[in-house]
Amino acid sequence: MSKQILTASSIITMNPDKPRATAVAIDGDRIVEVGTLEQCQAKLAGATVIDLGDTVLAPGFIEPHSHPLLSGISIMAPAHYIAPWVAPTWDDVVAIFKKALAESPADASLAFFGFDKLLHGVDAPNAATLDPIFGDRLAAVIDNSGHAAYVTTAVLKALGWEENPPENPVGGSYGRNADGGLDGTAEEVSAILAITLPVLGKLGGSPLHQAAEFLALMSRAGITSTSEMTYAKDYEAGYQALFSMPGCPVRISLYHMSTDPTCGDKVDLGIDPSRIRKQGIKLWADGSPWTGNIATSFDYLDTPTVKRAGIPLQTGGSKAMNYTREQLDAILDKYAPLGWQMAFHVNGDIGLDIVLDAYENALVKYSLLGTDHRWRIEHVGAGRGDQFQRAASLGVIASLAPFQFYYWGDLLDGQMFETRIGANWGRFKAAFDAGVRPSFHNDGSVSPPNPLLNMQTAVTRRTSTGKVHGIENAVTLDEALAAHTTNAAYILHRDHEIGSIEVGKYADFTELSADPYEVAPETLASDVAVKGTWSSGVRVDLDAFLGGGAATDGAPHQHLAAKAQEDKCC
Ligand SMILES: [Zn+2]
Ligand SMILES: [Zn+2]
Repeated sequence: MSKQILTASSIITMNPDKPRATAVAIDGDRIVEVGTLEQCQAKLAGATVIDLGDTVLAPGFIEPHSHPLLSGISIMAPAHYIAPWVAPTWDDVVAIFKKALAESPADASLAFFGFDKLLHGVDAPNAATLDPIFGDRLAAVIDNSGHAAYVTTAVLKALGWEENPPENPVGGSYGRNADGGLDGTAEEVSAILAITLPVLGKLGGSPLHQAAEFLALMSRAGITSTSEMTYAKDYEAGYQALFSMPGCPVRISLYHMSTDPTCGDKVDLGIDPSRIRKQGIKLWADGSPWTGNIATSFDYLDTPTVKRAGIPLQTGGSKAMNYTREQLDAILDKYAPLGWQMAFHVNGDIGLDIVLDAYENALVKYSLLGTDHRWRIEHVGAGRGDQFQRAASLGVIASLAPFQFYYWGDLLDGQMFETRIGANWGRFKAAFDAGVRPSFHNDGSVSPPNPLLNMQTAVTRRTSTGKVHGIENAVTLDEALAAHTTNAAYILHRDHEIGSIEVGKYADFTELSADPYEVAPETLASDVAVKGTWSSGVRVDLDAFLGGGAATDGAPHQHLAAKAQEDKCC
C-alpha cells in the first residue's frame, strides 16, 4: 500500500477538535495522521511527500441526494441540455434546437431535456410551435421537472396517432386540440414514455457512458460521494459496469424506490461496500413546487407567472399527496421492520405533517425511537421551524435544497407565493437550530451539481440575480460546509468513513483554489474553484475513468435509456 503525505496551504478538517492542519498522512486508502508535516513524517516514515502548493484541502464534498444514472442519460450527449442555467431564455433554447438540427443527419431524432415554464418564461411548446422549427424531424422536448414532454407532428405520425389518437394511459394524459386530435404534449410518466418512444428509441448513445459523464460532472464540482435516490433492480448491472471502470470518482449510497417490487431486499453488487452499497428506501410523498402538486396549507398567487406555468392556484392540501396516510403506513409496516433507512421526498408543510405523523407512528410501533435510524426528509421547501423541531425530536434528519431558492427564489417570493411563504422558502437556519443535521443537495440534473453554490446561497440568501430574500434564514459558513461534509456523511450513515479529515477515515479530499473563509460570501462559488478531488488516497483521474468507459461495452445497458424517462425527480 502506498504511503503519502499531502501538504497544502491549509487543510479544513471539519473535525472540531483540530479544525485546521497543513499536512495529512495517508497509508493506503486511509488517513493515519493530520497535523504538520513533521507530525505526519513522524507517524509515517518514508512516505512520499506531495506538496499541493497554494491549494486549500477540504474533506471531499458529499452530495447526499442525487440521481446520477438517469441524470446522465437525460442531459448528456446524444441528448441535448436546455435547462435555464444552460439556456436562460427561450431564444437561447431555440438556438440550441437549430444547432442540433444543423449538426445532425437529416434522419436523426433529437431529444432536449430541461425546459422550465417558470424560468424560461414562455408558454410550454407543442407540435404547432415545434413544427416550424423542426419540420419533419422526430424531436422531443422534456420538462426539467420530468413531469411533461412536447413532441413534433412527425412523432405523432410515427406513432400513427395523427389519424388515430389514443385514449389517455393510466396515470398520464395527452394534450388535445379542439377537434380532439393530439397537440403533441404529454403529462406524467406513462404518457411521456409512450409519446417520446419514437425519439428516444432511435437516439443511440450509451446510457453507461452518459452516466459516467454525469459522475465526472459531479467530480469536477468537488463531489467524492453521492447517492442514487432512484435505485431499482434494473440498475444493478449498470452500476456494476460503472464500478468496473478504472477509478470511479465517487462513492454511491443506493436508495431503492419503494415502487420497485424488490425494494425490501438486500442488494449485493459484488463490489467493495465502501464504494457502493444499498442504504435505504426512497418514496415521493408529494410533488414539485414547479408543477403545483405539493401538499401545502397555502395557495399559489393568481399571477401571470403561475398561470402560464399551468399551475393550479389551489394546492388542495393533503389531496396533493401521492399517497394517503394509510398507504404510507402500509409501506412503513412492510419495510421499517427490515431495518432500512427511510427517505421521503416532501416539499409542502401539510405533506411534512403527514410524513412526520406516519414516521412517528412507525418509529413507535417498531421500537425505533431513540435508535440510530436517521430516517430522512428530502427538500422540505416549505418546512417550518416547529416542524423541524418535531422531526428532530423523532431523530428524523433533513436534506435541504438551496438550489430551489437560488434558481426559483425571485419567483417564489411574490410571483408564486406571498412573501411570508416565498421569502422563507428553505428555512435553513431553523433546520440547523432545530437539530435535524441539515445536508444540502442539487438533486441530480434538477440543478447543476455545485456544493459551493449551495453553500453560498445558504450563507447569503441570494438568488441567481443577486437578490436577497428572507435573510433571517441564512446560516453560517461553518454550517454550510457541514451540510456538504459531516452532515452529509451522517445522513448517508457514512460518518465513520468520510465527511471530515480525521485519522481512520478514507482519504477523500477536495482541492480548492482559495479558502472559503477568506472570500466574500456572495461570490464564494466563483472565487473558490475546485482544482481536483481524491478518493481513497488516489487523485481522481477523470480522463482515465471516461477513457475506460469508452472501452466498456454499453450495449447491454440500452434499456436504461427508457428507464430515465420513467423516474421523476422534483
Ligand atoms: Zn430527487
Ligand atoms: Zn425529490
